[in-house]
Amino acid sequence: MELNICHLYPDILNLYGDQGNVLCLRQRLRWRGIEANVTGVSIGQTLHAADYDLFFIGGGQDFEQEVLLADLAGAKTAELKSAIEDGKPFLAICGGYQMLGAYYETWDGKKCGFTGALDLYTVGQKERMIGNYLFTCDDLNGAAIVGFENHSGRTYLGSRVRPMGRVLYGSGNNGKDGTEGVRYQNVFGTYSHGCLLPKNPQLADLLLRTALERKYGAAQLTPLDDTLEQRAHDYMEQRLRRAIKA
Ligand code: GLN
Repeated sequence: MELNICHLYPDILNLYGDQGNVLCLRQRLRWRGIEANVTGVSIGQTLHAADYDLFFIGGGQDFEQEVLLADLAGAKTAELKSAIEDGKPFLAICGGYQMLGAYYETWDGKKCGFTGALDLYTVGQKERMIGNYLFTCDDLNGAAIVGFENHSGRTYLGSRVRPMGRVLYGSGNNGKDGTEGVRYQNVFGTYSHGCLLPKNPQLADLLLRTALERKYGAAQLTPLDDTLEQRAHDYMEQRLRRAIKA
């Protein structure tokens, strides 16, 4: 068994070590004797979405998002949309998550037209939403996910998508409606940067299981010893739950 992972714009969208999520996916596969081939596709390179079983898009500041607008439009957008409708699993973080929506209007008034693959849009404000945060994940029976957010964009979901979960501590999609992230087909979009998957191994395995089941029909993931990962998760969860009560 093997999974082909596409890392979109790895050299441009990689804030706060977002690439660590790809390393985590690959390592959790290898520990189970499953091969993982990771391919970066960046500006000027053709995206053949049919070649891949799982997609990862990291975050980037407004500047980086603007840099890749021309490259993203056209063929890449069409490939991404068909992969999404085809049920390929995606993990998209912050700027990458925003990119799957219709547009992003920056806090200083620039309007970036994005893929429109998902029914959502983003509007920036000067005041950023920054910090460790905690949210639930509906696909994991409401389990708490620990993350780190840093964004100016407020994302609003349309009726054709649903959130990943509810914010327990922090801001999430827009700091107002209590939602965090997006779910559509097998797309997971979230504002959580950096070591999201290493600190939330259940979410990593959900993505891997989804990709393997889609490719091979059925998938049994051998349980791994997640003692360290769980300790990192629980430490932050407890810290943030204490902050909620304070
Ligand atoms: N540029 C976007 C914002 O500030 C995304 C930032 C990010 O990926 N951290 O909302």
